[in-house]
Amino acid sequence: MSIKVENVTKMYGSQKALDNVSFEVKKGEILGFLGPNGAGKSTMMKIITCFIPPTSGSVAVCGADIDSQSMEVRSKVGYLPESNPLYYDMYVKEYLNFVCGLYGITEGIEKRVERMITVTGLGREQHKQIGQLSKGYKQRVGIAQALIHDPEVLILDEPTSGLDPNQLVDIRQLIKDLGKDKTVMFSSHIMQEVEAVSDRIIIIDKGKIVTDRNVRSDSRNVEQVVLVEFDQAVSVSLLQGISGVTSVEDLQSNTYRLTGVAESDLRKFIAEWAHKNDVLTLTLKHEDERLEDVFRKHTS
Ligand code: ADP
Ligand code: MG
Repeated sequence: MSIKVENVTKMYGSQKALDNVSFEVKKGEILGFLGPNGAGKSTMMKIITCFIPPTSGSVAVCGADIDSQSMEVRSKVGYLPESNPLYYDMYVKEYLNFVCGLYGITEGIEKRVERMITVTGLGREQHKQIGQLSKGYKQRVGIAQALIHDPEVLILDEPTSGLDPNQLVDIRQLIKDLGKDKTVMFSSHIMQEVEAVSDRIIIIDKGKIVTDRNVRSDSRNVEQVVLVEFDQAVSVSLLQGISGVTSVEDLQSNTYRLTGVAESDLRKFIAEWAHKNDVLTLTLKHEDERLEDVFRKHTS
């Protein structure tokens, strides 16, 4: 497990910013941490990266405890803080060299900096002063800074906020690429943003997790949840016989929630079953689509 958060509560004075939060992030996962402003996203990320302690509860990163093994945690984690403070009068390379120093890296600095510049696509801008860069490129410098010590886990706090549409697409792609060999947790208050990049989404609101689910329900052998409405009532046991279906919930009004694991889209098997049994399917959709409703409910 890359990140393990157990029963974390954070009080700022009498205000509860996090309320008994627990979740785990698997190695290699891209986790989108979604929530409206003030939900507690930054607070959670600051705790995971050892910048502030929780009031109660525990967090481990790659098995290291944030309280008793904070040095180890810091070596395993790369962190892009929200509105990342950069030294605007420094040059890109100069700054990345400087960051190497902060991490106590003494050997192979030049190579490492070159690699970060390549990985984050800073090539053409590498000779500029940070203050001269566009917002998108400043973000890349921030991500390069977070990656410089080759951490296993990357924590990015609102990495796409304030970017124009083109920069947004670029940074999304960069996050996806980084997710190929790192565990990435990134926050955003924009749902579409998170859906486009994540393997998994956690929605947090007022310090509590309201949803935790996988996103890519079309990928193989991931649990799929399908909402289906027929033109007539159907027996639950018949629906349980559909290939891949593991559980069925009767939601009344001829509507059922089917959960299952299949090689391909579970909806295909349901449609085939309906066709064979002369049942008309009126609605057939992945419940993921309800994510938007969940988020709306908590942000409006
Ligand atoms: P998010 O990143 O989701 O917008 P934050 O974690 O920044 O949310 O904030 C969660 C809540 O905690 C908010 O109500 C915020 O005002 C409060 N908060 C955050 N930091 C502090 C602080 N240093 N002192 C007091 N309250 C804070
Ligand atoms: Mg924040």
